Amino acid sequence: MAALPRRALVAGNWKMNGLKRSTTELEKVVAGAGALAGKVELMIFPPATLVTAFAATVHGSEVGIGGQDCHAEASGAFTGDISAEMLADAGAKAVIVGHSERRTLHKETDVEVRAKALAAWRAGLTAVVCIGEAKDERVSGKTLDVLGRQIDGSLPDGATGANLVIAYEPVWAIGTGLTPTAADVAEAHGFIRERLTARYGDVAQAVRVLYGGSVKPSNAKELMGVANVDGALVGGASLKADEFLGIANVYR
Ligand code: PEP
Repeated sequence: MAALPRRALVAGNWKMNGLKRSTTELEKVVAGAGALAGKVELMIFPPATLVTAFAATVHGSEVGIGGQDCHAEASGAFTGDISAEMLADAGAKAVIVGHSERRTLHKETDVEVRAKALAAWRAGLTAVVCIGEAKDERVSGKTLDVLGRQIDGSLPDGATGANLVIAYEPVWAIGTGLTPTAADVAEAHGFIRERLTARYGDVAQAVRVLYGGSVKPSNAKELMGVANVDGALVGGASLKADEFLGIANVYR
Protein backbone atom coordinates (compact mmCIF):
# COMPACT_ATOMS: atom_id res chain seq x y z
CA MET A 1 0.00 0.00 0.00
CA ALA A 2 1.28 3.51 -0.86
CA ALA A 3 2.61 5.55 2.07
CA LEU A 4 -0.04 7.71 3.71
CA PRO A 5 0.49 11.37 4.58
CA ARG A 6 -0.90 10.49 8.01
CA ARG A 7 0.05 7.52 10.19
CA ALA A 8 -2.62 4.86 9.80
CA LEU A 9 -4.68 3.88 12.84
CA VAL A 10 -6.61 0.65 13.30
CA ALA A 11 -8.83 0.88 16.37
CA GLY A 12 -10.92 -1.88 17.92
CA ASN A 13 -14.22 -0.97 19.60
CA TRP A 14 -15.10 -3.86 21.88
CA LYS A 15 -18.47 -2.32 22.82
CA MET A 16 -20.11 -4.15 25.79
CA ASN A 17 -17.94 -7.23 25.38
CA GLY A 18 -15.03 -8.52 27.40
CA LEU A 19 -14.21 -9.95 30.81
CA LYS A 20 -10.91 -10.14 32.68
CA ARG A 21 -10.09 -13.36 30.87
CA SER A 22 -10.24 -11.45 27.55
CA THR A 23 -6.78 -10.12 28.43
CA THR A 24 -5.41 -13.16 26.59
CA GLU A 25 -6.85 -11.77 23.34
CA LEU A 26 -5.20 -8.40 24.02
CA GLU A 27 -1.88 -10.14 24.71
CA LYS A 28 -2.07 -11.67 21.23
CA VAL A 29 -2.65 -8.21 19.74
CA VAL A 30 0.40 -6.90 21.63
CA ALA A 31 2.46 -9.83 20.37
CA GLY A 32 1.44 -9.11 16.77
CA ALA A 33 1.92 -5.36 17.06
CA GLY A 34 5.71 -5.50 17.06
CA ALA A 35 5.82 -6.46 13.39
CA LEU A 36 3.62 -3.47 12.56
CA ALA A 37 5.61 -0.88 14.53
CA GLY A 38 6.01 2.37 12.64
CA LYS A 39 3.54 1.28 9.96
CA VAL A 40 0.20 1.48 11.73
CA GLU A 41 -0.93 2.57 15.17
CA LEU A 42 -3.15 0.09 17.03
CA MET A 43 -5.68 0.95 19.71
CA ILE A 44 -8.22 -1.13 21.63
CA PHE A 45 -11.29 0.46 23.23
CA PRO A 46 -12.50 -2.06 25.85
CA PRO A 47 -15.44 -1.54 28.23
CA ALA A 48 -14.57 0.84 31.09
CA THR A 49 -14.19 -2.05 33.54
CA LEU A 50 -11.12 -3.27 31.63
CA VAL A 51 -9.34 0.01 30.87
CA THR A 52 -6.99 -0.13 33.87
CA ALA A 53 -6.03 -3.78 33.38
CA PHE A 54 -5.66 -3.39 29.61
CA ALA A 55 -3.52 -0.26 29.99
CA ALA A 56 -1.20 -2.28 32.23
CA THR A 57 -1.09 -5.13 29.71
CA VAL A 58 -0.09 -2.89 26.79
CA HIS A 59 2.44 -0.87 28.82
CA GLY A 60 5.67 -0.49 26.86
CA SER A 61 4.09 -1.85 23.66
CA GLU A 62 2.88 -0.19 20.45
CA VAL A 63 -0.79 -0.67 21.42
CA GLY A 64 -2.87 2.10 23.00
CA ILE A 65 -6.03 1.83 25.09
CA GLY A 66 -9.09 4.09 24.98
CA GLY A 67 -12.54 4.50 26.48
CA GLN A 68 -15.83 4.15 24.59
CA ASP A 69 -17.60 7.24 25.95
CA CYS A 70 -17.20 9.92 28.61
CA HIS A 71 -19.33 12.45 30.46
CA ALA A 72 -18.78 16.11 29.63
CA GLU A 73 -18.10 17.03 33.27
CA ALA A 74 -14.90 16.13 35.12
CA SER A 75 -16.73 14.87 38.22
CA GLY A 76 -20.02 15.19 40.05
CA ALA A 77 -23.41 13.63 40.76
CA PHE A 78 -23.78 11.64 37.54
CA THR A 79 -24.46 8.07 38.69
CA GLY A 80 -23.10 5.47 36.35
CA ASP A 81 -21.13 7.90 34.19
CA ILE A 82 -17.38 8.10 33.70
CA SER A 83 -15.39 11.26 33.05
CA ALA A 84 -12.57 11.78 30.60
CA GLU A 85 -10.28 12.48 33.56
CA MET A 86 -11.17 9.07 35.04
CA LEU A 87 -10.32 7.38 31.75
CA ALA A 88 -7.01 9.21 31.56
CA ASP A 89 -6.32 8.26 35.19
CA ALA A 90 -6.99 4.62 34.29
CA GLY A 91 -4.42 4.76 31.50
CA ALA A 92 -6.56 5.62 28.45
CA LYS A 93 -5.03 7.72 25.69
CA ALA A 94 -8.23 8.36 23.73
CA VAL A 95 -12.00 8.16 23.95
CA ILE A 96 -14.70 7.47 21.36
CA VAL A 97 -17.49 10.04 21.40
CA GLY A 98 -20.68 10.18 19.36
CA HIS A 99 -20.74 6.52 18.34
CA SER A 100 -24.00 5.86 16.49
CA GLU A 101 -25.09 3.42 19.18
CA ARG A 102 -24.92 6.28 21.70
CA ARG A 103 -26.49 8.77 19.33
CA THR A 104 -29.36 6.32 18.70
CA LEU A 105 -29.85 4.41 21.96
CA HIS A 106 -28.96 7.30 24.31
CA LYS A 107 -30.32 10.08 22.08
CA GLU A 108 -27.00 11.94 22.15
CA THR A 109 -27.03 15.16 20.13
CA ASP A 110 -24.24 16.89 18.25
CA VAL A 111 -24.10 19.49 21.06
CA GLU A 112 -23.51 16.76 23.64
CA VAL A 113 -20.94 15.03 21.45
CA ARG A 114 -19.08 18.32 21.05
CA ALA A 115 -19.05 18.80 24.85
CA LYS A 116 -17.66 15.28 25.28
CA ALA A 117 -14.93 15.95 22.70
CA LEU A 118 -13.98 19.08 24.63
CA ALA A 119 -13.94 17.03 27.84
CA ALA A 120 -11.57 14.57 26.16
CA TRP A 121 -9.20 17.41 25.26
CA ARG A 122 -9.45 18.87 28.77
CA ALA A 123 -8.23 15.51 30.10
CA GLY A 124 -5.45 15.22 27.52
CA LEU A 125 -7.17 12.46 25.53
CA THR A 126 -7.58 12.14 21.77
CA ALA A 127 -11.26 12.40 20.83
CA VAL A 128 -12.38 9.82 18.25
CA VAL A 129 -15.55 11.48 16.99
CA CYS A 130 -17.96 9.22 15.09
CA ILE A 131 -20.21 10.49 12.32
CA GLY A 132 -22.32 8.70 9.73
CA GLU A 133 -25.64 8.55 7.97
CA ALA A 134 -28.58 6.21 8.61
CA LYS A 135 -29.95 3.98 5.85
CA ASP A 136 -32.90 6.24 4.99
CA GLU A 137 -30.56 9.23 4.81
CA ARG A 138 -28.29 7.36 2.39
CA VAL A 139 -31.24 6.21 0.26
CA SER A 140 -32.70 9.72 0.08
CA GLY A 141 -29.38 11.24 -1.00
CA LYS A 142 -28.77 13.13 2.24
CA THR A 143 -25.46 11.50 3.25
CA LEU A 144 -23.22 14.53 2.70
CA ASP A 145 -25.76 16.89 4.34
CA VAL A 146 -25.79 14.66 7.43
CA LEU A 147 -21.99 14.44 7.55
CA GLY A 148 -21.67 18.22 7.15
CA ARG A 149 -24.15 18.85 9.94
CA GLN A 150 -22.45 16.36 12.27
CA ILE A 151 -19.00 17.81 11.55
CA ASP A 152 -20.19 21.36 12.15
CA GLY A 153 -22.12 20.43 15.30
CA SER A 154 -19.95 17.77 16.93
CA LEU A 155 -16.44 19.15 16.50
CA PRO A 156 -14.99 21.86 18.76
CA ASP A 157 -12.59 24.54 17.56
CA GLY A 158 -8.93 23.82 18.21
CA ALA A 159 -8.47 20.46 16.50
CA THR A 160 -5.00 19.09 15.78
CA GLY A 161 -3.73 15.89 14.25
CA ALA A 162 -2.97 14.66 17.77
CA ASN A 163 -6.21 15.50 19.57
CA LEU A 164 -8.80 14.56 16.94
CA VAL A 165 -9.62 11.46 14.91
CA ILE A 166 -12.82 11.22 12.85
CA ALA A 167 -14.51 7.86 12.30
CA TYR A 168 -16.89 7.79 9.34
CA GLU A 169 -19.30 4.98 10.14
CA PRO A 170 -22.41 4.60 7.99
CA VAL A 171 -24.97 3.46 10.59
CA TRP A 172 -26.42 0.85 8.22
CA ALA A 173 -22.98 -0.75 7.79
CA ILE A 174 -22.32 -1.27 11.52
CA GLY A 175 -22.61 -4.89 12.54
CA THR A 176 -24.59 -5.79 9.40
CA GLY A 177 -21.93 -7.20 7.10
CA LEU A 178 -22.89 -4.49 4.58
CA THR A 179 -20.32 -1.97 3.36
CA PRO A 180 -20.52 1.03 1.03
CA THR A 181 -18.81 0.79 -2.35
CA ALA A 182 -15.25 2.08 -2.58
CA ALA A 183 -16.63 4.99 -4.62
CA ASP A 184 -19.11 5.88 -1.86
CA VAL A 185 -16.36 5.71 0.77
CA ALA A 186 -14.14 7.92 -1.41
CA GLU A 187 -16.93 10.48 -1.79
CA ALA A 188 -17.65 10.58 1.96
CA HIS A 189 -14.01 10.77 3.02
CA GLY A 190 -13.21 13.38 0.37
CA PHE A 191 -16.12 15.46 1.61
CA ILE A 192 -15.03 15.09 5.25
CA ARG A 193 -11.47 16.18 4.38
CA GLU A 194 -12.80 19.25 2.53
CA ARG A 195 -15.10 20.18 5.38
CA LEU A 196 -12.28 19.77 7.93
CA THR A 197 -10.02 21.93 5.75
CA ALA A 198 -12.66 24.65 5.51
CA ARG A 199 -12.97 24.57 9.29
CA TYR A 200 -9.37 24.09 10.47
CA GLY A 201 -7.19 25.06 7.50
CA ASP A 202 -3.93 23.16 6.91
CA VAL A 203 -4.24 21.40 10.28
CA ALA A 204 -6.96 19.26 8.67
CA GLN A 205 -4.30 17.46 6.65
CA ALA A 206 -3.00 15.94 9.89
CA VAL A 207 -6.41 14.73 11.17
CA ARG A 208 -6.97 11.04 10.54
CA VAL A 209 -10.31 9.96 9.13
CA LEU A 210 -11.09 6.28 9.76
CA TYR A 211 -13.69 4.16 8.00
CA GLY A 212 -15.88 1.96 10.22
CA GLY A 213 -18.68 -0.50 9.50
CA SER A 214 -18.26 -4.26 8.96
CA VAL A 215 -14.51 -4.07 8.29
CA LYS A 216 -13.02 -7.58 8.10
CA PRO A 217 -9.69 -9.00 6.94
CA SER A 218 -11.38 -9.89 3.63
CA ASN A 219 -12.48 -6.34 2.77
CA ALA A 220 -9.84 -4.29 4.62
CA LYS A 221 -7.44 -3.97 1.70
CA GLU A 222 -10.06 -2.47 -0.60
CA LEU A 223 -11.54 -0.14 2.04
CA MET A 224 -8.19 0.99 3.45
CA GLY A 225 -6.91 1.61 -0.08
CA VAL A 226 -9.48 4.37 -0.71
CA ALA A 227 -8.16 7.95 -0.83
CA ASN A 228 -8.43 9.82 2.48
CA VAL A 229 -9.04 6.62 4.47
CA ASP A 230 -6.44 6.63 7.23
CA GLY A 231 -7.40 3.39 8.93
CA ALA A 232 -10.38 1.65 10.45
CA LEU A 233 -12.64 1.62 13.47
CA VAL A 234 -13.48 -2.05 13.88
CA GLY A 235 -16.28 -3.50 15.99
CA GLY A 236 -17.05 -7.21 15.80
CA ALA A 237 -13.82 -8.23 14.08
CA SER A 238 -11.73 -6.57 16.80
CA LEU A 239 -12.81 -9.12 19.42
CA LYS A 240 -10.53 -11.76 17.93
CA ALA A 241 -6.85 -10.85 17.82
CA ASP A 242 -6.19 -12.73 14.59
CA GLU A 243 -9.00 -10.91 12.75
CA PHE A 244 -7.98 -7.54 14.16
CA LEU A 245 -4.35 -8.11 13.21
CA GLY A 246 -5.50 -9.42 9.82
CA ILE A 247 -7.03 -5.99 9.19
CA ALA A 248 -4.01 -4.08 10.50
CA ASN A 249 -1.70 -6.24 8.37
CA VAL A 250 -2.98 -4.39 5.31
CA TYR A 251 -0.46 -1.70 6.28
CA ARG A 252 2.46 -4.08 6.71
C1 PEP B 1 -18.45 -0.03 15.32
O1 PEP B 1 -19.35 -0.29 16.10
O2 PEP B 1 -17.75 0.99 15.52
C2 PEP B 1 -18.24 -0.91 14.17
C3 PEP B 1 -17.55 -0.46 13.18
O3 PEP B 1 -18.79 -2.17 14.26
P1 PEP B 1 -18.63 -3.38 13.20
O4 PEP B 1 -17.20 -3.41 12.75
O5 PEP B 1 -19.02 -4.59 13.96
O6 PEP B 1 -19.55 -3.07 12.05
